Amino acid sequence: MEKQAREITNEKLTELAATISTKFFEHLPYISTNFEHNCTNNNRLRTTAGRFLIPSCNIEVNPKYYARYGQQSLHDVIKHELVHYHLYRLNLGFKHKDKDFKQLCKIVDAPRFCHQMQSPKYRYKCSKCNTEFLRMRKVNVKKYRCGKCKGSLSPSPI
Ligand SMILES: [Zn+2]
Ligand SMILES: [Zn+2]
Repeated sequence: MEKQAREITNEKLTELAATISTKFFEHLPYISTNFEHNCTNNNRLRTTAGRFLIPSCNIEVNPKYYARYGQQSLHDVIKHELVHYHLYRLNLGFKHKDKDFKQLCKIVDAPRFCHQMQSPKYRYKCSKCNTEFLRMRKVNVKKYRCGKCKGSLSPSPI
């Protein structure tokens, strides 16, 4: 079972955004800038996973979102926001409907839409500590165990 991501400090989020930017964007020929702004938690976001702010160029993420969906989802959200970020700074089409946007999402393998908190489809319960895990995808309970106590998991109706 993957570890549940707890709320990450704004400093760490900014570092993470810079790392993702370096890894996926900065080697592209038309991108010449690093991530030079801030990535912060916004607890007031409800169902939105993250957003790119204009004109400040900062990125905000919803801590409830990555607490629920885990570290990988946080990476995906930040990557998605970085597509907005880099295109905006290059004066290219940075909106969801824009061709530049769709193309860059494809190149860096970012989700084109990841803004909404969807309701999870699967629920699992630990047989030992009774912790519940909500997941979007089916989990192989033979392979994965409880992230807290290593107890076995069983599906429980949602
Ligand atoms: Zn977006
Ligand atoms: Zn457990």
